[in-house]
Amino acid sequence: MVRPFRPQLVYFEPKALDYPLGAELKEKFEKEDVEIRYTTSHNQVRNLPGDNDFQKYRVAKSTLVVGIRKTLKFDTPKPSAEYAIPLATGCMGHCHYCYLQTTMGSKPYIRTYVNVEEILEAATTYMEERAPEETRFEASCTSDVVGIDHLTHSLKRTIEFFGKSELGKLRFVTKFHHVDHLLDAEHNGKTRFRFSINADYVIKYFEPGTSPLTKRIEAAGKVARAGYPLGFIVAPIYLHEGWKEGYYHMFERLDKELPEDAKNDITFEFIQHRFTKSAKRVIQKNYPMTKLELDEEKRRNKWGKYGMVKYIYQKDEEEEIKEHLFDYMKQFFPNAKLEYFT
Ligand code: SF4
Repeated sequence: MVRPFRPQLVYFEPKALDYPLGAELKEKFEKEDVEIRYTTSHNQVRNLPGDNDFQKYRVAKSTLVVGIRKTLKFDTPKPSAEYAIPLATGCMGHCHYCYLQTTMGSKPYIRTYVNVEEILEAATTYMEERAPEETRFEASCTSDVVGIDHLTHSLKRTIEFFGKSELGKLRFVTKFHHVDHLLDAEHNGKTRFRFSINADYVIKYFEPGTSPLTKRIEAAGKVARAGYPLGFIVAPIYLHEGWKEGYYHMFERLDKELPEDAKNDITFEFIQHRFTKSAKRVIQKNYPMTKLELDEEKRRNKWGKYGMVKYIYQKDEEEEIKEHLFDYMKQFFPNAKLEYFT
């Protein structure tokens, strides 16, 4: 049972305190006796406690930097959405294969932006540019934003903002079950609430610091009953002893939990486990005891963007994964939409 995130150390950037959310967070953490420091910029957050990189990495994962988002130019994470909406970066989870280890390398701390209204104004401009087309925004490109939202409610504000918008859609994905404060948000069906799910074995061994599957499934049930369109990312699909039963059981429990009407508007995304040489290096540095299988010899090469080789499963293994997962999905959720398998 993972408790809602509570930072051990909080940094404030000076301008953050000019915003109501910044001031509110300062008051909250002062009351809770959390250690507070001030910094001129998050780039200065270097002298974290710890004798070596391994310890510093762990401290960073429980450090929150409260700042403002200066650049209001959004990234374009196509094809899943037109824009990435920046609400936070970093995550307190310790998933061994987390993509943030390579993308956020030197800045593993969690950062939240308090100038939410300015970020939403920028979103309005992007929507106007594309009108009358719809514009989709993805909120989880650089963070698991649900995991910190009980502290900031910025995601809740953003859900309600898109709930009122005519042409905006929001999506995000989480491995956390702390969703209660989002259940009464006026989403008006404009937000697709996705959960990242996996077989119990994979969550247990490779996703420390995140919510167990049972809790994620329970949370998905609550979210469905609150009327949100739902989605599930099954990732990374990982071959292990008993994987067929593990994934079958996952679908079975999901089916039991979800109300019938939610099953008609549900999406699945399937991503098989992959790694690159540079990801392997950081994983082995940050999680030296990992049981994660990272043997290039056992895998097949796939050329990724920028000429980088990804190691994915052999063709016959990939076919077996597809056969079983597609079959389970169709069996339990015949009306679900499969977005992609990769
Ligand atoms: Fe990374 Fe997501 Fe795990 Fe957080 S929950 S550590 S963002 S994979």
